[in-house]
Amino acid sequence: MEIITIPCLKDNFAYLLICKKSLEAAVVDPSEAFPVQKIVKQNGVKLKTILNTHHHWDHVGGNKDLVAANPDLLVFGHESDRGRIPGQNKFLKKGDIISFGEVKGSFIHNPGHTSGAISYIFSKTVFTGDTLFAAGCGRIFEGTPAQMFNSINFLIGQLSDDTEIYFGHEYTENNLIFAKSLEPLNLEIQKKINKVKYLRSKGKYTTPTTLKEEKKTNPFLRCDSSEIRKTITLKNSKNSLSKIQAFETIRELKDCF
Ligand code: ZN
Ligand code: FE
Repeated sequence: MEIITIPCLKDNFAYLLICKKSLEAAVVDPSEAFPVQKIVKQNGVKLKTILNTHHHWDHVGGNKDLVAANPDLLVFGHESDRGRIPGQNKFLKKGDIISFGEVKGSFIHNPGHTSGAISYIFSKTVFTGDTLFAAGCGRIFEGTPAQMFNSINFLIGQLSDDTEIYFGHEYTENNLIFAKSLEPLNLEIQKKINKVKYLRSKGKYTTPTTLKEEKKTNPFLRCDSSEIRKTITLKNSKNSLSKIQAFETIRELKDCF
């Protein structure tokens, strides 16, 4: 499977997934139709499938036009997003398989950012939408901190370390500045800041990351870090936070960073 990153809107990413054998393709989170159609045409592939990670407009904004241009498109989302994802005709429930061409994948239901948020998995790659970003995570709009903690640290966090994570927004630089404010002594964060600055200065994007890198740099996967705990305890006054309380505190600090 080949993956092409398609920048959309201001800082969104859609991804075109191509089955190299059949030249059939799927698109993850088409924020808008035009940039997707352009890449589909350039690559001479047949778009068969839309894979939505959640219902927010900046992830489904292109659905309507893509379906209008091709009424046979399969539009996947979580079963609980029925009525919220334009054109949805596939309602994913536990154990369902996703396929296009000869590619087969699965999904994880990871509520927290929204109640129907899912990540799509194709062998060693995962598409996380707004649930997990490089060095950050999405805001908790429809879930609890405990749900989001579980989604990120266990449901996604249990994948193998070399899993490549394709996320929904180019927020990495700011996320890392926040991460550094919590862990000024974490050299991995500084290393990643240098790498990301270089990429961005060349007009390149920071997607994908890997789970291994995230475990070293993403504060939402590092609720056990003694340095983070020291920093947030100073700001929070409670000194024996559970992991979930630490997660919640980090999320609150990030919300107003
Ligand atoms: Zn969102
Ligand atoms: Fe978004």
